[in-house]
Amino acid sequence: EAKQAGRNRFCFFEQSMNQRVHEHLLVLQGIDQALAEHQLFLEYQPVFDLQRDVISGAEALVRWRHPRQGLVSPASFIPIVEESDRIEALTLWVLTQACRDLRDRILPRAPGFKLSLNVSGVALQSDSLRDRVLETLSREGVSPASLRLEITETTMMRDIEKSAETLKLWQQAGLRILIDDFGTGYSSLSYLTSLPIDGLKIDRSFISQLQQSSQGPVVDAILALSRTLGIETIAEGIETQEQLQLLRQMRASHGQGYLLGRPMPVSQLRTLLEHPQPLHHSGIMS
Ligand code: C2E
Ligand code: MG
Ligand code: MG
Ligand code: MG
Repeated sequence: EAKQAGRNRFCFFEQSMNQRVHEHLLVLQGIDQALAEHQLFLEYQPVFDLQRDVISGAEALVRWRHPRQGLVSPASFIPIVEESDRIEALTLWVLTQACRDLRDRILPRAPGFKLSLNVSGVALQSDSLRDRVLETLSREGVSPASLRLEITETTMMRDIEKSAETLKLWQQAGLRILIDDFGTGYSSLSYLTSLPIDGLKIDRSFISQLQQSSQGPVVDAILALSRTLGIETIAEGIETQEQLQLLRQMRASHGQGYLLGRPMPVSQLRTLLEHPQPLHHSGIMS
């Protein structure tokens, strides 16, 4: 019986390993084609100035419309791509596309708009990416001051000194640097002193538990810390009016979440910028 169970377990393990390997191969074989054949596209989630009740910017989020798998979530393919050298091509594709949308479709409607892009921590290790990011901005004619780079820590940064060097160069060029998912296992307080940081994005896990329990003081403390350091904060994943009110009471400056607006095509973002809705009516936007 035990032998039987052991065998089953082994089979199960073997199968899930195979599945994982298979999934990895599918993604890595498919990503070049995705880039070449326009299977990737961007959606934009509005970021609100919580004190002034206006949209101050948006976060660009990549999507993959796979010819056979359908819509694939970045949460499933980014971790695989960032373990390969293809992360560089993907990052530059996102940057180029975002620059064009910003320049042609967003900035004409909203001059002070700030667009956030996700850059995976592993991509910071690449010398060529470091230079090509700035080259892309000047080629596309977009001012670095309109962009923010969210450093996502899906895997720990391999070389923190190298990362700091790259980020410093980008910051000197006028880009602003945010730490994404702040407070989770992947980010750490030590980044605040070892990296050039302009802001923190407070992870959704803190915001979703804001009412229930001990998370309130934690968010309050992150906000206080940011004020002391003179950096900005963006609360992620605001889903309820209660969370929004609590964050306002804590004097949080910026926020995003399904309550305020879901990720949307650029055309829809443009409409929203042309016909702004007061925040307390914003439930109808999501
Ligand atoms: P992230 O940068 O932390 O992005 C926020 C994620 O939370 C997005 O998921 C967004 O759709 C989702 N979200 C926003 N508001 C809410 C809310 O109120 N409730 C809930 N439950 N979720 C909310 P998405 O688009 O699936 O992206 C997942 C992750 O994939 C991102 O997390 C980011 O780490 C990564 N990613 C997305 N686009 C890119 C990209 O262009 N480059 C890189 N390197 N990573 C990307
Ligand atoms: Mg992000
Ligand atoms: Mg995040
Ligand atoms: Mg995340």
